[in-house]
Amino acid sequence: MSKPIVGVSSCLLGHAVRYDGDHKYDSKIADSLAQAFELQAFCPEVNSGMSIPRPPIQLRQTERGIRCVRVDYHNIDVTDQLQQSFLPELQWMSGLHGFILKANSPSCGIERVKVFDGDEYQRTGTGLFAQFIRQCLPGLPLVKESQLEDRALREQFIQDVQRYKSVASFAVETNSS
Ligand code: SF4
Repeated sequence: MSKPIVGVSSCLLGHAVRYDGDHKYDSKIADSLAQAFELQAFCPEVNSGMSIPRPPIQLRQTERGIRCVRVDYHNIDVTDQLQQSFLPELQWMSGLHGFILKANSPSCGIERVKVFDGDEYQRTGTGLFAQFIRQCLPGLPLVKESQLEDRALREQFIQDVQRYKSVASFAVETNSS
């Protein structure tokens, strides 16, 4: 039987795609989870056309709601650039059975991403790409890499992914029969 296919924030697999030209290689994912899953790297910021390196971005409370802007120039808003780049990726992402996302990123962060207001952050939110996955692929198992350090959470994620794949495969067989 084929392995479940799991998306991974590219920087966690050692790809040097971060704003500073570095990566955040995580051996738990690259070594141990690669045995259970077929891993598919994706960086939403680079996919949207951003360079490596690039100016860092952050979530910020504005009059237009929470927006993703450059840290150095808050009037440079990259929200639309990012969001418009997600939709063309939906077709291949529909074949995924889970996604491992980099914590704390304004793009990939699942939760507790800082939302700045002035020089401080007053609240936390979700990265734009993680929001998109939640809305367009409801039920897809998501986990941030820091949760995989907990053995029970790691096992739970593996089970969730396998269950999701079984349900998805059953739906495909039913629709084609
Ligand atoms: S956008 Fe996501 S994948 Fe790309 S560098 Fe940032 S955290 Fe990593």
